[in-house]
Amino acid sequence: KRTEEILETTSSPAAAPEDWESVVINLDHGDPTMYENFWKQKGDQETTVVTSSWQHISYFSDVKNVCWFLEPGLVSAIARLHKVVGNAVTEGRHIVVGTGSSQLYQAALYALSPPNGSGPMNVVSAAPFYSSYPLMTDYLKSGLHKWAGDAYEFNKQEPYIELVTSPNNPDGFTRQDVVKGDKGILIHDLAYYWPQYTPILVPADYDIMLFTASKSTGHAGSRIGWAIVKDREIAKKMTTFIEINTIGVSKDSQIRAAKILQAVSDSCGQENQKGAETFFDYSYKLMAERWKKIREAVNKTELFSLPSFPPETCSFSGRTFGQLPAFAWLKCEGEVDDCESFLRRHKILTRGGKHFGAEHEICEDQHVESRERV
Ligand code: PMP
Repeated sequence: KRTEEILETTSSPAAAPEDWESVVINLDHGDPTMYENFWKQKGDQETTVVTSSWQHISYFSDVKNVCWFLEPGLVSAIARLHKVVGNAVTEGRHIVVGTGSSQLYQAALYALSPPNGSGPMNVVSAAPFYSSYPLMTDYLKSGLHKWAGDAYEFNKQEPYIELVTSPNNPDGFTRQDVVKGDKGILIHDLAYYWPQYTPILVPADYDIMLFTASKSTGHAGSRIGWAIVKDREIAKKMTTFIEINTIGVSKDSQIRAAKILQAVSDSCGQENQKGAETFFDYSYKLMAERWKKIREAVNKTELFSLPSFPPETCSFSGRTFGQLPAFAWLKCEGEVDDCESFLRRHKILTRGGKHFGAEHEICEDQHVESRERV
């Protein structure tokens, strides 16, 4: 089916029962609209941003900051939220804002690849890895860096950048770096290191950490991500990349994101005088409910299995639970030998394991990743 048709069939809430035959469930791309109801019940004062035509006109936000287009209000909102949740160290670190963490990923590659290296820098990540990494690394056929595949397989005596996604997209597991060499530089993509997806164990304290509003609060449309960077020179080079790429990041979006992040922190602290449900309580319960349902459905057949995650205690919520990933990494058991086609025949669109570096030879079994609509 063509994309337009799929969008039409999946986005039409008015589909009458007799039309269900034609309904296609599109789990191929995630869209974090699942938190919409939480944000709908928030009062205007708490989360609505009103902007006058004379505001946010300048390119500049704070010329004294390494990242000169970063809004001071966003810096304090980010630092406060990480402190409240306890998931990352921000003291003494540089923050770089990006148009989504996707732009920051590219900025980090630019900053970490030597401009006069003997060849492009190798970029690896342990399979299964986030399917956009290879595309984003190579689509401009850069002379600075190149996708070098599965980090488990990388054994060249050459410099490399290893991407560590934790919790991982697509399979949800907590990750550490895996390459055994000593010539590597690490980028930690911590998009899902939030208490609705995983128990928070320690404040992360890596050299380059990427976060995004898309996964933390669900505001993917604002396109706001942030990098927490230890080294000033790297933060400066990342800023230069964004300067050349888009001359900064929308201030309107930054101010909106700041307001939302502050509202999340407020809901977790003393400002929440009415005792309203906090954002992380709401999102945790929603994720737990969805995982309960999908596990029940999968357990009804012998065709598939889902990963199981050992429970750990979250330092933020005090809850003991196993990961509740934003995606389901569904493994075929038994007779089904091509899970993506099998599900497609049943009108469920998924993204097969090969997009995530999970080839037959590597994993023996077939994998299908079906991405929850989060
Ligand atoms: N990293 C991971 C692991 C992701 O899953 C995604 C979105 N699917 C991103 C980064 C990019 O997020 P954004 O550009 O919306 O911040």
